[in-house]
Amino acid sequence: MKGRLAEKITDLTLELTSVRSIVGTAGEVDIANRVHQIFRKMKYFQQHPENLHFVPVPHDPLGRKSVLAIVKGEKRQNKKAIVLIGHIDTVGTSDYGLLEPYATKPLELAEKFKEASLTDEVRTDLESGNYLFGRGIFDMKCGVSTLMAIIESVTEDIQGFEGNLVFAAVCDEEGNSSGMLSVVPELIRLQAQEGFEYQALLDTDYSAPRFAGDTTKYVYIGTVGKLMPSFYVVGSEAHGGDPFKGLDSNHLSSAIMQEIDFNMKYSDEAEGEVTVPPISLKQTDLKQEYSVQTPKTGYLYFNYGTHASGPHQVLDKVMAGAKLAFQNLVDRLNEEHETYCKASGIPFHKLPWTARVLSYAELYDRVVAEKGVAAKEVLETRKNELLADPNVDERLFALRMVETLHNLWSDNDPVVIAYFSPPYYPHVFVKGDSPLEKKLLRVVDELIQQTYASHHVKMKRFYPYISDLSYASAPRDPSAIEALQANMPGFGTKYVLPLKEMQDLNLPVINIGPFGKDAHRYTERLEKQYSFDIVPGLVRETIIKLLQ
Ligand SMILES: [Zn+2]
Repeated sequence: MKGRLAEKITDLTLELTSVRSIVGTAGEVDIANRVHQIFRKMKYFQQHPENLHFVPVPHDPLGRKSVLAIVKGEKRQNKKAIVLIGHIDTVGTSDYGLLEPYATKPLELAEKFKEASLTDEVRTDLESGNYLFGRGIFDMKCGVSTLMAIIESVTEDIQGFEGNLVFAAVCDEEGNSSGMLSVVPELIRLQAQEGFEYQALLDTDYSAPRFAGDTTKYVYIGTVGKLMPSFYVVGSEAHGGDPFKGLDSNHLSSAIMQEIDFNMKYSDEAEGEVTVPPISLKQTDLKQEYSVQTPKTGYLYFNYGTHASGPHQVLDKVMAGAKLAFQNLVDRLNEEHETYCKASGIPFHKLPWTARVLSYAELYDRVVAEKGVAAKEVLETRKNELLADPNVDERLFALRMVETLHNLWSDNDPVVIAYFSPPYYPHVFVKGDSPLEKKLLRVVDELIQQTYASHHVKMKRFYPYISDLSYASAPRDPSAIEALQANMPGFGTKYVLPLKEMQDLNLPVINIGPFGKDAHRYTERLEKQYSFDIVPGLVRETIIKLLQ
């Protein structure tokens, strides 16, 4: 039985990999159609065509869509349901270089790799015959195939199956998660329509070694979250020949970079598991032309992982960091200025700068207090202009709104405005507080103890790669949501999250993924033995126990 399932998953993995489905291309539509077609051929969905349908991404220029397949067990009345998700898009293939035409043909690619220059580890894996290479095979066509094959096998004996499954094969996970974000409201609708009692959300995205030589296979209960703390930096312009008259925004921006980038002080911790430290994704000044004038404004933002802190806490932390960086810079500038004055024989006076950091919400209050309705009107007009411009993405939209707001302010002195750029991925911390959380932790712990520890399977708390798992819930703490809404320009207009539905869904999450290496690299590869022979059993048993 296990052998047959493994075979099925192998074939399906190769088939789905062969359909190129790079995020942001029409290939995402092709793969959704293929997944739908495979389900349609299954006996169960021929008898129940109403249980299989597409969920379109609203207003998507490419017409992308996700596939929803619903299985209703017939053993006895049981409204319990598990939500299963898997993403069907992949990252691009240009990293394969000359081998790009073979990126989605695992068997041919392995032949080509034999003549390629590879690191020792990759070569060893290639020659072992225990790995399949190819774009998306590991992230995550294999995981999608696993869920599809389990669904097929369950539906072959639908009278013997108790409980319900709702499987969403989602698009755009590697991009803006528009697939999952359009599926969440659909899950809520289904819950009301069918009376489903959702138990958990299970994903089968990849799981990789955590360090070189790590052979542990991880099952993750919960997931890391992500915020993008951003800073609009306003200095004071000066002529290059008279720099102490001004405050270079690049200098200030770099001071913030130096303080926050890669600083473990800002890493978030829960249950003894830490996130990676913040890393910069953008830093630039906003001066258009060349001239010997120091740039007045600039901006920078960071990728910031969370395990426990909400948006309000992260904002407080990074604002304190920016303030510290600003103050240190002012102190240092004063020292340098004193040295310069002495060396030049001119009188020294203290520089006029004060370290000031405001949040977007604080700036908004000040500007509205000063300018009243007129300020709101300017912001509204600017918002509509930006929304109409297809070249403005969510990050740039947020920046332009901060800039517009700051330009309305009569205060022209140096200041740092802290805000959030989209996207936002809430972390899911499965503490074990609610009955559903307790049950999930217990079921997985028991399965590992009884059977899977011998396969080196271990449970951890936070899936470490940003994924759609984040959208299974949202913080219910009003101060967390307020901090986000008030400090992320474009929230609800340019950037829409179904927050209410996420809060209603409120599910603990688990990822049981195939094992492999180098996701998002051209050496992406799937280890066959664990992925095909062990994972499917673990996924299946987890589902069945959760439905009991
Ligand atoms: Zn993935």
